[in-house]
Amino acid sequence: MPRFKIFWVMLFVAGASASASTASIGNVTEKRLLQADAEPGQWFTGGRDYRQDYYSPLTGINKHNVGKLGFAWSRDIDPPPVLEATPIVVDGVLYTSGGSDGPVYSVDAKSGAPRWAFKPQVDATKLHYPVSRGVAVWKGKVYFGAGDGWLYALDADSGKVIWRVDTVVDHSRVCFITGAPYIADDAVVIGNGGAEFDARGYVTAYEAATGKERWRFFTVPGDPHKGFEHPELEMAAKTWDPNSRWDVGLGGTAWDGMAYDPHLELLYVGTGNGVPYPRSIRSPSGGDNLFLASILAINVKTGRLVWHYQTVPGDQWDYTATQKLVLADLKIDGKVRKTIMQAPKNGFFYVLDRESGKLLSAKPYAYLNWASHVDLKTGRPVETIDGDYSKEPKLIFPGDWGAHNWQPMAFNRRTGLVYVPVLETGVFYGHTKESFVYRPKYSNLGLLHLSGEVTQAELPKEWPKIESLRAGKRDPRARTYLRAWDPVRQSLVWEVETTAPTSLGKSGGNPAGVMTTASGLVLQGHVDGDLFVFDAETGKQLARVDVGDKMVAAPMTYLVGKEQYVAIMGTGKTRSGTSHPKRGRIVAFRLGGGPVPRPSNETNEQVEPPPLANQGTPQQIELGSQLFARHCSMCHLNGEKAPFLPQMSAEAHRQFGAIVLNGARLEKSMPGFGSVLSVDDANAIYAYVNDLAWNYFDELKSKESKASGALK
Ligand code: CA
Repeated sequence: MPRFKIFWVMLFVAGASASASTASIGNVTEKRLLQADAEPGQWFTGGRDYRQDYYSPLTGINKHNVGKLGFAWSRDIDPPPVLEATPIVVDGVLYTSGGSDGPVYSVDAKSGAPRWAFKPQVDATKLHYPVSRGVAVWKGKVYFGAGDGWLYALDADSGKVIWRVDTVVDHSRVCFITGAPYIADDAVVIGNGGAEFDARGYVTAYEAATGKERWRFFTVPGDPHKGFEHPELEMAAKTWDPNSRWDVGLGGTAWDGMAYDPHLELLYVGTGNGVPYPRSIRSPSGGDNLFLASILAINVKTGRLVWHYQTVPGDQWDYTATQKLVLADLKIDGKVRKTIMQAPKNGFFYVLDRESGKLLSAKPYAYLNWASHVDLKTGRPVETIDGDYSKEPKLIFPGDWGAHNWQPMAFNRRTGLVYVPVLETGVFYGHTKESFVYRPKYSNLGLLHLSGEVTQAELPKEWPKIESLRAGKRDPRARTYLRAWDPVRQSLVWEVETTAPTSLGKSGGNPAGVMTTASGLVLQGHVDGDLFVFDAETGKQLARVDVGDKMVAAPMTYLVGKEQYVAIMGTGKTRSGTSHPKRGRIVAFRLGGGPVPRPSNETNEQVEPPPLANQGTPQQIELGSQLFARHCSMCHLNGEKAPFLPQMSAEAHRQFGAIVLNGARLEKSMPGFGSVLSVDDANAIYAYVNDLAWNYFDELKSKESKASGALK
């Protein structure tokens, strides 16, 4: 790896000093985007064109020959724990990003040869979440939102910085970028994340050429006593208790899904959950709490709201509407409607008229119990007693990860079906004994949440027994599915279970993003290292390519000359099937390419036992598990946002107290919790984590012996 890093840096220096940029590099324009079907070999945006439907008109790779899909090239990159970006390919050049601190990569799409790589200087104390969901390319520039909130415009030819701007308006709060920028009418639009901490959500549009701010739209009001930044907030403030927790920021962050309709000049923005989670704390007298968990349609020229639709009025389950937004023209009741579709975390599949915002349909695409249905007359969900945790803890479906999260869903214009990567799981939500105290820049959920497979020991003593919480409820253990959904008939057409057998994390392994083609294929990677190809009409598995990387990002496809390629990003895995945080690559495929070489940096690691004995008392471990659920699990649950603690290094074991209390890993964006946790608390958390590490070690060892047995 070190040699490799130097290689990229040298390339960047060489690229930066290159003169005269070529106008044809990265030249995505309105005209090309609107006529994207005439250039089927291009993948212009995250979801290919302005419709963001992850649909390619290409047919060279099809049902008859996809069995021959094999290796074309691969490019090792320096990844975060998880890679979530879908590359963009314009005129034979591929652009993508690694983590929220970069690098941004430009490579030759035919050979994988590096063109340039750009590594921004980031303030690691502000990262909080190492993920990047990609770049935008527009008129010779590549746009990238770094995790510390800086937005970059790079020369597409050289990687050189043309402009950069700090998008964070309030540095006293946690506010970070994980999403890809979206281009709308020569503006580059970016939101932020951080609702679980104390962020106040907003999106900002900057002139793509210069970085000059065009407008900013806050998704929740600030303290009304201080006035409103724009008129929509005055209206929104009426849906909040005047004594809402304005100090906590309230969330509503727009951290991922957006789309732009150039005909209507409307920018669509999905907004996130509220914080603190419980209504009783956030906005005690209730209210819809606009614009939490909403789809906003904003006039891109003026920044004024044209319509809004709130999926979850008064959200208190982390049911964001930040999931990808797909534009589709659907024939409904004999009439072609311009629609916008979303499968947000709450489990309902929404189809709205994208001109007017009128709700056309909302049916469950996954199991849910927080609402019985969506009333089409009022557009509101009808909540159930099962979803109400205000008086007693409840096991609620979908879980806080949502029935569908950031992973792209794909809409096939020929089959008329949407392919949704679904996670079926539940979450225990309930209050704790302590009353809510706002802690700036820390997790401020205001409740306890435990996802998936939970044991009695993890529940607070004052909660009912786990058997009674689970009685009559579904099994909350996570399972994943690829579901083909008919958005017109509002029904499931087929499904394939994709639950990862090797998944050891409680989330059950995330399902991966999806791409579909005019030739009737659905492509989806897998956390266990295979790229699957399904028949778009039936769900029949047509091909399975052993890649060897853990893949959760969506693949994409493009042409160079007459040759069709498929590309995807993935992180390396250990021999035992778990992800390895220091390996990653872009892999491209073509017909007849043969087997995919194992990742060049794959090693046969020995499974090492944790360095310290498992000496915590049962009481310590129990207390530790509760503290972990409250303070740590948001980032450390399954190793996708922050290190998977059962696999932490020997050094981290030995320095646990200094890291947790004193901020010894601040440079890796792990804050010190000394103001929140006592030394006894930290010891209890260590006892719990070390117990996990030993259990994990035992599990890996037994897997290894099974695996080596299988070879004989
Ligand atoms: Ca959230």
